[in-house]
Amino acid sequence: MTTLSKTARAKLTETHVIERPEIVTQQLSQDGARKWLLKSSDKNTVESVFIPEEDRGALCVSSQVGCTLTCSFCHTGTQRLIRNLTACEIVGQLMVARDTYGEWSSPPANRKISNIVMMGMGEPLFNFNEVAKALKIIMDPEGIALSKRRITLSTSGVVPMIKKVGEELGVGLAISMHAVRDDLRNQLVPINKKYPIDQLLDACRTYPGASSARRITFEYVMLDKVNDSPADAWELARLLKGIHAKVNLIPFNRWPGTSYKTSPFPVIKRFSQILNDNKLSAPIRVPRGRDIMAACGQLKSANEDRSILSSTASTNAAVL
Ligand code: SAH
Ligand code: SF4
Repeated sequence: MTTLSKTARAKLTETHVIERPEIVTQQLSQDGARKWLLKSSDKNTVESVFIPEEDRGALCVSSQVGCTLTCSFCHTGTQRLIRNLTACEIVGQLMVARDTYGEWSSPPANRKISNIVMMGMGEPLFNFNEVAKALKIIMDPEGIALSKRRITLSTSGVVPMIKKVGEELGVGLAISMHAVRDDLRNQLVPINKKYPIDQLLDACRTYPGASSARRITFEYVMLDKVNDSPADAWELARLLKGIHAKVNLIPFNRWPGTSYKTSPFPVIKRFSQILNDNKLSAPIRVPRGRDIMAACGQLKSANEDRSILSSTASTNAAVL
């Protein structure tokens, strides 16, 4: 930056670094999804995934190395929390993705990486300060200038932080719902023991910025014979009454060691239909990147498991 004075440059060199996370591996799925394993300077690793669509695409960004929560169907939940990512490491994931696709000078309308979902490894609301700092840099017109309308943050239900997401960031909210009764949600998403369903839905009812144009997404993983009955669908529709909501049905993505199975497609279809009959949009998410263990809930970066993962990756592609 030769336009700055020598003293300013010396000061910047002392206090700042310009760096990217190191790319350890990069895998490309048969369906076009791409997964990066990224290493920080202290050797910790996280994964990010890009999911291309026809005319746009979402980058799935991680917020923590591992996760403190232990949702029973989530692969990341089997890895203990090592540490929170810094804002720099969170923004770094987007920098690496943009580098890969050569998107720094292309006009916004032509960019493949059009959206960001905070749905990678970790619970973003347990690292709110760094996540907020990162998203503010990403949204800043002098930063990466991505609109808040193109950003969605997913939480397992850290109720006291939800209002802050709306007030401070104004990004889209996704809630990992997954069950309609507290006894089952306690097992699937154990944070429910602290913040049960009624408290979670109250926070959604008053989420700043939710409207019929910007609905809250309720993610619901379809687990065979666990949470996929028609009665569950009816109850979900009842619970979501009065909330600007849509539901995203996620066929369960398998991982080594899990005993859960994905609900059969007709069961998912029937579940979706019941929600539609109750005026709720409920698309079924098409699994992406399963062949490289890049689909929802499959991310994990503990080095000791790498060999197991790579040997099972191809068999996972055949599931469902
Ligand atoms: N920690 C945050 C965001 C990351 S997980 C959260 O829990 O919301 C992103 C989404 O994938 C969540 O809805 C999560 O519940 C879901 N998920 C986790 N494991 C999954 C699996 N094996 N198959 C399908 N979805 C899964
Ligand atoms: Fe953590 Fe989210 Fe996985 Fe639960 S679903 S263990 S909160 S990453």
